Amino acid sequence: MVLNYYGLKPDKSLRLNCPFHEDKTPSLQVYYKTHTAYCFSSNCKTHGKSMDVIDFILHKESCTKHEAIKKAIEISGRNW
Ligand SMILES: [Zn+2]
Repeated sequence: MVLNYYGLKPDKSLRLNCPFHEDKTPSLQVYYKTHTAYCFSSNCKTHGKSMDVIDFILHKESCTKHEAIKKAIEISGRNW
C-alpha cells in the first residue's frame, strides 16, 4: 500500500530501485510477509537495518517518527 502510494512497483523477485540512494540495479528487497524492506547497498543511508512501513515513510518524507506514523495511518495502516 505504501509502495503504491509512492508509485513504486517491486519486480518479480520483490526488489525495487532503492529510493534512498542512487540505485542503478534494484537493491531494495521488500518482504511482504513481515511488512519490512531492506537495502543491500552499503552506499545507502538505510543500509544495515530493515525498515518497516513507518521507517520507510520517515526516510521518504524526511520527517519525524511521529509525522511518519500519522502519515501511515493516513495512507491506511501498516500495509505495504
Ligand atoms: Zn538504498
